Amino acid sequence: KRVEVSVAEHGIDPSLLDERAVRVVQTLTEAGFEAYIVGGAVRDLLLGMRPKDFDVATDATPEQVKGLFRRAFIIGRRFRIVHVVYGRGREHEVIEVSTFRALLVNEGAEQVAGNEKTSKEELAGKSHVVDAAGRVLRDNVWGPQIEDAARRDFTVNALYYDPQRQLVVDYHGGLADAKKRVLRMIGDPEARYREDPVRIVRAVRFAAKLGFELEPKTRAPVKAMSELLANVPASRLFDEMIKLLQTGHSLASLEELRKQGLGRGVFPVLDAMLNEHGEMAEADGVRGKFLRMAFEDTDLRVAEGRGVSANFMLACMLWFDVLGRWTANREAGEPVIPALQQAIDTVFDARIGDISGRGKLATEMREIWMMQPRFERRTGSGVYTLIDQPRYRAGFDFLRLRADAGEIDAALADWWEDFALGTDDEREALLEEAR
Ligand code: ATP
Ligand code: MG
Repeated sequence: KRVEVSVAEHGIDPSLLDERAVRVVQTLTEAGFEAYIVGGAVRDLLLGMRPKDFDVATDATPEQVKGLFRRAFIIGRRFRIVHVVYGRGREHEVIEVSTFRALLVNEGAEQVAGNEKTSKEELAGKSHVVDAAGRVLRDNVWGPQIEDAARRDFTVNALYYDPQRQLVVDYHGGLADAKKRVLRMIGDPEARYREDPVRIVRAVRFAAKLGFELEPKTRAPVKAMSELLANVPASRLFDEMIKLLQTGHSLASLEELRKQGLGRGVFPVLDAMLNEHGEMAEADGVRGKFLRMAFEDTDLRVAEGRGVSANFMLACMLWFDVLGRWTANREAGEPVIPALQQAIDTVFDARIGDISGRGKLATEMREIWMMQPRFERRTGSGVYTLIDQPRYRAGFDFLRLRADAGEIDAALADWWEDFALGTDDEREALLEEAR
């Protein structure tokens, strides 16, 4: 049932809208298509929050959308969408435009034996494909808005907003659920988790981010279905984990994972960090303190609208793993630097694997870790080359965190801070003092 809700009832503040998203909607409707702001943006607007990004849904095909904008790219295979791009550099902004999808569930889908290794040839030219476990591998059949709404995950994520008429379109009672602060899966939750097990992680993420409760039927199959996460490509799961920890509610997200029984065994990176109860290992020790401070800092940065980098967060999450192996390698007689390099290689293999397209992330994490022993050598030339490094700031912030957690002597971090801020004379004195 299609319900149109006016501004008197939904109360969305138009000043929270993104001009460019509105412009995309306008361009599409002027060309004779239907177009709405959709998904998380509408949900956040309803809750009075400024959305961090905007998605648009339309009945135009990706090719038709592309034809209407100067800079637009059709991307994605599993789920084809158009990126409409505005601005450059820091001002750069992407509006994701998706075409209304048909609700085929499993009828009409071509089935392939399918697992992570399903070949590209097997999928080529097919628009809707599921694997033997019912997981959707391709979802590119267009349909009407009512079906598009039904295939979205949660009721609060299936709202459409028309910025020109200031109307919210609601098919699944999402508005009422938003008021009750409930996260409810559309359709049969178990079937929806089978189609796409990543929805389990999304449920956890939204519950933590929005402070919503999972509706009981939505919650019930979570633990049992979590086994299916093993079939999800590692890179998609990795991306979801990063998103989960960058919502600005990272500790709440970890707590929610624990509550749902997903604290361990799902994400190798978290396994490195949590004990068998899914809690931060050695909660009272240096390690627990370090991790807690790292997450609190991440959340604070999000709250203040500063960026959080996945590389810094991951470097923190895996640090004690690296540190343990580094120490062991040194005790086995390896010199300091090669011992650290080997420790890093081992940790990457064990916890991240070779996820393609992660080269830059891995390089940045490695840079942060490799700077740590260099902070301990405070001799003239070494000090100057270190602080001139483009990534010095990240390396120092990491050192500061180690000091604050009590892993290393706070005086070392103080020394570097004084040095970085000092005049030439003060720097001379600091170098003298360190000799
Ligand atoms: P965020 O605030 O994190 O961006 P979001 O709800 O916008 O949250 P996106 O991943 O940007 O999440 O997806 C946009 C919308 O697409 C969702 O609101 C939902 O309607 C739909 N969607 C995304 N992923 C799925 C999925 N796995 N299954 C069903 N619908 C999905
Ligand atoms: Mg979004």
